[in-house]
Amino acid sequence: MVQRTEKSCNFAADFTKIIIMKKHNFYAGPSILPEYTKQKVAEAVLDFAGTGLSVMEVSHRGKEFVAVMDEAIALVKELLRVPDGYSVLFLQGGASLQFLMAPYNLFRTKVAYLNTGSWASKAMKEAKFFGEVIEVASSKDRNYNYLPKDYAVPTDVDYLHITTNNTIFGTELKSDPQVSVPIVADMSSDILSRPVDVKKYDLIYAGAQKNLGPSGATVVIVRDEALGKTGRQIPTMLDYQTHIKGESMFNTPATLPVFGCLQTLKWLKEQGGVEAIEKVNITKADTLYGELDRNKLFTPTVPAAEDRSRMNVTFVMAPGYEALEKEFLDFATAQGMVGLKGHRSVGGFRASLYNALPLQSVEALVSVMREFESKH
Ligand SMILES: *Cc1c(COP(=O)(O)O)cnc(C)c1O
Repeated sequence: MVQRTEKSCNFAADFTKIIIMKKHNFYAGPSILPEYTKQKVAEAVLDFAGTGLSVMEVSHRGKEFVAVMDEAIALVKELLRVPDGYSVLFLQGGASLQFLMAPYNLFRTKVAYLNTGSWASKAMKEAKFFGEVIEVASSKDRNYNYLPKDYAVPTDVDYLHITTNNTIFGTELKSDPQVSVPIVADMSSDILSRPVDVKKYDLIYAGAQKNLGPSGATVVIVRDEALGKTGRQIPTMLDYQTHIKGESMFNTPATLPVFGCLQTLKWLKEQGGVEAIEKVNITKADTLYGELDRNKLFTPTVPAAEDRSRMNVTFVMAPGYEALEKEFLDFATAQGMVGLKGHRSVGGFRASLYNALPLQSVEALVSVMREFESKH
């Protein structure tokens, strides 16, 4: 027994060493989390809420974990100012399962989708199982490097589906669209990065692993009144009403990921909430785009400033400097930058600047870019 305690203590000490080795983490997802989240998860993996057991070892129906779930749901409501009449759920299956669950629960006669990238296309593909899907606009003609503006949404659709942040292509709809139909939004990669007017939405969903916590949990915010109107039989696990009734505990939830999400939510509240973090996010994005526009070696892939994502900054080597791509990646890697390689469908680089990424990491990247420029 004594032996075991010593071992776990040593392990905790080693773990602390690992997390203080400074890396600048620009991964797109799973991605950087606040130190606070990692520390609290590390503690609860060994001893959760004074139970003497790991958070991975206790019943999800025990009072300690029920309190975690309740607080996580309450904090999502508080931070995003979710109005009455909406339910917040923590489900599994990622945003990809929501591509299917959304139409299963909300598609009655026809729906509209804005095609701004591969995630949007994948969402649209699932909706087509249920009937007519109108693609109101697409930016595929230029490899999704802009956001379509002048499109009309038919007034008789059940909803307009949007992807607020296009993680792969680096564009972001930074304000709620002005439309007369309910909106359904995939906010996987920018949820909680800015305020959102939830009442415009019938459904918001997000995989946790970009801005919230470890992979394995999916946040869903759904307007209760929008449900139960399709007339279709919905398989139990795919029915939002199952999970609303079950308070996200119809079956075993992803206990450790939900615990992680709760820590990030607490951290975000401590930072001043979404309004405060939005200011920091704007500063971070302006800092990096400013350098990209100035530095002769690099070009952002999204030309229009208003379309550029604050969360995922995509860029390539400027014309004439293409051959330096690998050298820059190696140069940045040697200085502690990780996750900068761009998605294969865009190439070049992608720096993800999620909520938890400190401004110092952006400044470090900018100085690496300047240093690289001075060598060429
Ligand atoms: C990452 C991502 C997804 C896919 O999420 P999973 O949780 O892996 O299913 C969907 N949409 C967007 C916008 C994403 O960034």
